[in-house]
Amino acid sequence: MGQTVLLLPGDGIGIEIMAEARKVLEWVVRHDRLDLTFDQALIGGCAYDATGDPLPEETLTKAKSAAAVLLGAVGGPKWESLPYEVRPERGLLGIRKALDLYANLRPAQIFSQLLEASTLKPEVIRGIDIMVVRELSSGIYFGQPKGVETLPDGRKRGFNTLVYTTDEIERVAVSAFEIARKRQGRVCSVDKANVLEATELWRTTVTALRNARYPDVALSHMYVDNAAMQLVRNPRQFDVILTTNMFGDILSDEASMLTGSIGMLPSASLGGRYALYEPIHGSAPDIAGQGVANPLATILSVAMMLRYTLQRPAAADRIERAVNRVLDQGLRTADIMQEGKTRVGTIAMGDAVVAALAD
Ligand code: NAD
Repeated sequence: MGQTVLLLPGDGIGIEIMAEARKVLEWVVRHDRLDLTFDQALIGGCAYDATGDPLPEETLTKAKSAAAVLLGAVGGPKWESLPYEVRPERGLLGIRKALDLYANLRPAQIFSQLLEASTLKPEVIRGIDIMVVRELSSGIYFGQPKGVETLPDGRKRGFNTLVYTTDEIERVAVSAFEIARKRQGRVCSVDKANVLEATELWRTTVTALRNARYPDVALSHMYVDNAAMQLVRNPRQFDVILTTNMFGDILSDEASMLTGSIGMLPSASLGGRYALYEPIHGSAPDIAGQGVANPLATILSVAMMLRYTLQRPAAADRIERAVNRVLDQGLRTADIMQEGKTRVGTIAMGDAVVAALAD
């Protein structure tokens, strides 16, 4: 039976970049004769406008019957004054939770053509190839109790709970070890085990799992403060970084900035049964509708989808080579523009990738 990919363009530039990613996936479907069809649904601000809910039931139903979901971005100033429960970003947190997407994979890979785009020296970042595996559905962002209460003396008290169970740690660690086996075979697990008991459990659980099932993978541990420093001091030392939800949120943004362009970076969120792929950037309201957004992060998310869900590694490689080729040709969207290169818009960049696929 054929598979379906659900497209969720979302808001702002999400619509523009999704159109280009779709062109690329359609090319692969035709070329490789994949039995794959597309469906589309609403999420985020546009879904709120149409239905009063940033994650309509229909979208969730479609997502659960799809082989994979490709998402653009959600949010924008239009919806910023709405109550938290119906903000566009709730749609995103909601779908991650509903699909039980517990492992967030964010590669930070440098394109040699864009070395100058980073704020770090080329000799520090040349050749970096890091995969951050962040726990996505538990930890302090979800732990109970949480809230803000008023104390008898009138002061307020805000609180969140950092909580992990061994099974939650093990399943994301399995993802990290499996990915490491397909890479350089090294995992650095990042925690704050010297201060936080929940992450001491993280450390012992990851170690026990490695010893029992992944003795071939080299495991090291690092405190999060040191990891934040090492990422800018000597990022090449890392292969796979495995960490908790909040630490991963921060470290993956830091790792992505090593490469200099938010418009180039894809991500995958994996669970037991479902998978969601999206660029790491947001809906960029400042440039939405102008046809200048960089579609490459979303196109590279399609490559991740082909590699991790659709089991088509050759097609994934082909897309990554095509992206390299358009960069070699000197084509640049505004966010990665360099002197002497050719500035192109969103559609022209998508067309160039499709043309390079055929080469
Ligand atoms: P952003 O990522 O949307 O934009 C940050 C900056 O990067 C902007 O200057 C933008 O123009 C630029 N940029 C981002 N993607 C680009 C691309 N593909 N090509 C060229 N330039 C690009 O982050 P923000 O401004 O903090 O947030 C804007 C909205 O997006 C907010 O409503 C926020 O909540 C939402 N958001 C959504 C997601 C998501 O959907 N996954 C992630 C982050 C932020």
